[in-house]
Amino acid sequence: MSRARVIVLNAALGPLDYRVPQGMVVEPGSIVVAPLGPRQLVGAVWEPERLQTEEVGDNRLRNLVHVYDLPPLAAPLRRLIEWTADYYLAPLAAVLRMALPSSGALDGARSITEYRATGHVPERLTPQRAQALERIGERQGLVAELAIIGGVSDGVIRGLVKAGAIEPIEVTIDDPFPVPKPDHGPPALDASQAEAAGALRAAVAAGEFAPYLLDGVTGSGKTEVYFEAIAEAIRADKQALVLLPEIALTEPFLKRFAARFGCDPVPWHSGLRQSQRRRAWRAIATGEARVVVGARSSLFLPYPRLGLIVVDEAHEASFKQEEGVQYHARDVAVMRASFEQVPVILASATPAIESRYMAEIGTYAELKLPDRYGGARLPDMAAIDMLQDPPPRGRWLAPGLVEALEENLTNGEQSLLFLNRRGYAPLTLCRHCGYRFQCPNCTAWMVEHRFTRRLACHHCGHVMPSPKACPECKEEDSLVACGPGVERIADEVHALFPDARTIVVTSDTIWSPAKAAEFVARMEAGEIDIVIGTQLVTKGYHFPNLTLVGVVDADLGLSGGDLRAAERSFQQIRQVSGRAGRGGKHGRVLVQTHDPSARVIQALVSGDAEGFYAAETDARREAGMPPFGRLAAIVVSSEDQAEAIESARMIGRAAPAHDNMAVFGPAPAPLAMLRGRHRYRLLVHAARAVPVQDNIRDWLGALTWPRGVRVAVDVDPYSFL
Ligand code: ADP
Ligand code: ZN
Repeated sequence: MSRARVIVLNAALGPLDYRVPQGMVVEPGSIVVAPLGPRQLVGAVWEPERLQTEEVGDNRLRNLVHVYDLPPLAAPLRRLIEWTADYYLAPLAAVLRMALPSSGALDGARSITEYRATGHVPERLTPQRAQALERIGERQGLVAELAIIGGVSDGVIRGLVKAGAIEPIEVTIDDPFPVPKPDHGPPALDASQAEAAGALRAAVAAGEFAPYLLDGVTGSGKTEVYFEAIAEAIRADKQALVLLPEIALTEPFLKRFAARFGCDPVPWHSGLRQSQRRRAWRAIATGEARVVVGARSSLFLPYPRLGLIVVDEAHEASFKQEEGVQYHARDVAVMRASFEQVPVILASATPAIESRYMAEIGTYAELKLPDRYGGARLPDMAAIDMLQDPPPRGRWLAPGLVEALEENLTNGEQSLLFLNRRGYAPLTLCRHCGYRFQCPNCTAWMVEHRFTRRLACHHCGHVMPSPKACPECKEEDSLVACGPGVERIADEVHALFPDARTIVVTSDTIWSPAKAAEFVARMEAGEIDIVIGTQLVTKGYHFPNLTLVGVVDADLGLSGGDLRAAERSFQQIRQVSGRAGRGGKHGRVLVQTHDPSARVIQALVSGDAEGFYAAETDARREAGMPPFGRLAAIVVSSEDQAEAIESARMIGRAAPAHDNMAVFGPAPAPLAMLRGRHRYRLLVHAARAVPVQDNIRDWLGALTWPRGVRVAVDVDPYSFL
């Protein structure tokens, strides 16, 4: 009789054994349906010797229900899933889930029914129906997807279908994707580009694990260079994966890709409709999707013939997943490349200290592009001392920056103001009684969004209409905004330059690839003079007529004070500076700061990246911080504060004593309350050689805590909130 060990998609369960019924054939990696009590769950067959589980007698086994007609998950992916679960202390099922799509994509339907508006206006047009139709516009999707877009219930959409205002439409989901042509539009590379591209092409052809750090200044042509590696993978009939840190960057990427390879790659991100996801997943799993560009989640997809992984803007903190399985996509990408025996390219103009260190000790090969392509120079950088040259009261742009903006307007050139803060103002208070608006669920101020006339919590998404009167003292029109957000800077720009055409670019305004495309088109058409944006505009974009970048508050990123604060500020400001002067015209960058002598500002203005990195790296080495030591955070949370603190203390008291490993805390987290849960943090700090995960597993595995308490372990944490 034949049995199979299966990881089922239920994080609370370990591996389970099943009987393979007569006539069914499974192998490790097969995707199956298994019974569990009265339900049926999707799962994957695994090598029994690799998973411990309780032995169950043959006579007690239940039959597997079904095996899907799909290629089994290959061994390198199975090893990656195991490694990820082990390293990040996550359930295997939770990691496996990232490799599998919703069950719809598994069963291989050839078409799916989507819905779209017909243009017919129903007789009974309730406000909800009107809102739904207006928001849906030309878009199409499942009932549930349209309900989300329309901000209404599924019932409203179904009602609209009955009324003839929305109609079903069959969408085929197994249309093949076009194959990119490696020789469609190759550029003529300059000498240093050609050298880097040559090394990467050879690595792809060799088909072995080889990590590369592609370190090139902004505008040096890193994308063009790694495109050559992708071309080589296509020629070798392999698949290539490009990871991008934001889905907003997908659109400009698609355009460049199409210009180089003659068609779009296959995108994978959270903005896809279900039908698009199904089609993409199946094409990836069968090997038909040749080049995939995606967010970090595309890293776990079942590519049967992976030949190359590229991580673009590899220093970006958004590669760190902060919920569920808390993995870092850059690190997992290197691991996947190693299991798959393929090269991996980490591309960045400002590589993370961790990556630079790996290059320094020779683990990664370093490829440098020291100059901008085509003779474009890096922009001139200067600091504006906000104490010497302050803006007028209630304003945020110093006279020096305003003058520069004016010059650019006169010359018909574009400018970018960078402030990494969404909304109008970070804090709203009552001028009369001092009342401050705080999120009811989080230790955070409600942020005013004047465009939508709301206050919003940026941590949990709680929103409320902006009130007319103070809820505390009832005084009317007494609320004042404190500090600037991008919307407030936009107001200031309007007041200064009423004729300037501006756009605010944040995740509130550019929330889909289509919106990003629209933004790019308007910039390229010269319809915008001044962009005011958050970190969303710091990378990826190439606007030749953009010649001035103003950093509104260079000190902002330093206030958090975690171990990477200075590094992150440096990277972010360097990146946004890199948007200036990318074409024929020279660019300049003005950095507003209250502390022009700070090391970060000095390094930015002088351009001495090497000196800055060296000093930061030394400080990390001395403190035994990553990459020279290891950290893990343990966050204990509960809706009940007493329960949270007691559990955190109990865990702290049970902390094991190991050489070269110290446990700090518990202490209230800086975000002491999040989504209604009280949070306490412990921090584990250890030498590199210490098996931190094993120690934590043993430590926490021996403890129990009340049901309402959640204990989340964050290995290699990036957030210290
Ligand atoms: P990076 O990713 O390093 O910031 P990009 O790859 O975006 O740089 O290149 C900057 C600009 O220069 C892009 O518009 C790109 O198309 C162009 N470019 C770079 N290298 C070449 C080349 N060899 N031939 C033609 N255009 C190039
Ligand atoms: Zn909140």
